[in-house]
Amino acid sequence: MSSHAVLEIQLSSLTHNYHFIKSKLHTQTKLLAVVKANGYGSESVSVAKKLEELDIDYLAVAYVVEGVKLRAAGIKTPILVLHPQLGDFKDIIHQCLEPSIYSLRSLEAFIKTAQDLNCEAYPIHLKTNTGLNRLGITERDFPSVFSSLKAQKAVSPKGLMSHLAASDDLLEREFTERQIKTFSNHIQLFEAELGPIPLKHLLNTSGILNFPQAQFNMARSGIGLYGYSNNPDIDKQLKPVATLKANVSQIHELQVGDWVGYNKGFVANKPMRIGTISLGHADGISRQYGQGKGVVSVGGGLAPIVGNVCMDMLMVELGDLQVQEGDMAVIFGEGAGQIASAEDFASGAKTISYELLTAISARVQRQIIE
Ligand SMILES: *Cc1c(COP(=O)(O)O)cnc(C)c1O
Repeated sequence: MSSHAVLEIQLSSLTHNYHFIKSKLHTQTKLLAVVKANGYGSESVSVAKKLEELDIDYLAVAYVVEGVKLRAAGIKTPILVLHPQLGDFKDIIHQCLEPSIYSLRSLEAFIKTAQDLNCEAYPIHLKTNTGLNRLGITERDFPSVFSSLKAQKAVSPKGLMSHLAASDDLLEREFTERQIKTFSNHIQLFEAELGPIPLKHLLNTSGILNFPQAQFNMARSGIGLYGYSNNPDIDKQLKPVATLKANVSQIHELQVGDWVGYNKGFVANKPMRIGTISLGHADGISRQYGQGKGVVSVGGGLAPIVGNVCMDMLMVELGDLQVQEGDMAVIFGEGAGQIASAEDFASGAKTISYELLTAISARVQRQIIE
């Protein structure tokens, strides 16, 4: 079966990025690879297997289904679940996943489940709020957390963690430094009450790059492993893992005044050639890339998207490019010619690589390149 669009996943680029991130960490700092959202839209099983081959210390997913999928594929590495839901706790334990416990409510519910299943010292990661105000135990609840933990033996804190709010933004350096200080203080408070906690982790990719002094003994990298860093200079040293390609299905010659696509989304102001590409908003290239906000690489040059992105197709203006029906267009990624990175393509629509990559839908075939 041939496919209308392919997302190529270069595992050698993942390996390159892994070594790059490792080179930014002290030798004793462990590395946790974030493979949530299908490995940032790539293919989480192949990515996790490659990382396991590279001796990754830890993996993390956002939700339990993502961890279950990795276990079913034979992944043995410890897996942290960043945002487990209270109804998931049985499955977490059955699948040997480690929950991030982010509130007193989630702690009490998890202890109850662990006791019901006769667990002893089941590993959990306690997550504190240091300023992101998204997930994390608030300081007001620390005394109750300590007494809940001391009153039982079913669970045991294996990790203490928090998350930075603006590690990529050096204009907010002071805020981040305050978060780091707060987290150090939380470690002292927790260890004074509960004894040593083996793993302490705060940094994401931009944190590793901008605040290496705050590695504690583990760091969490997602986007960096996929080839992006929120920093154009460092992006040059990373390799994009995912490359999105689709076909030029048809070419039309337009006269002045001709429409392109639905609702007069574009009207030709001169004679021009328009190529129809086999990729649409159902594939994850949303309508925000229409009207010239997105530009694809085809025929050795760049062709802007004209009109509105349709569900299954989008149209580009071909200008003088040497393009024929059946040629392939590259939307973002790596390769010869002027191919946009996912970060650059995303910035055309004022969004970020994270959103673009994770939006590529299941309809786009993943092709794993070893
Ligand atoms: C997604 C996520 C990460 C990874 O962040 P990157 O910027 O992709 O490196 C790390 N920690 C937590 C808690 C996350 O939710």
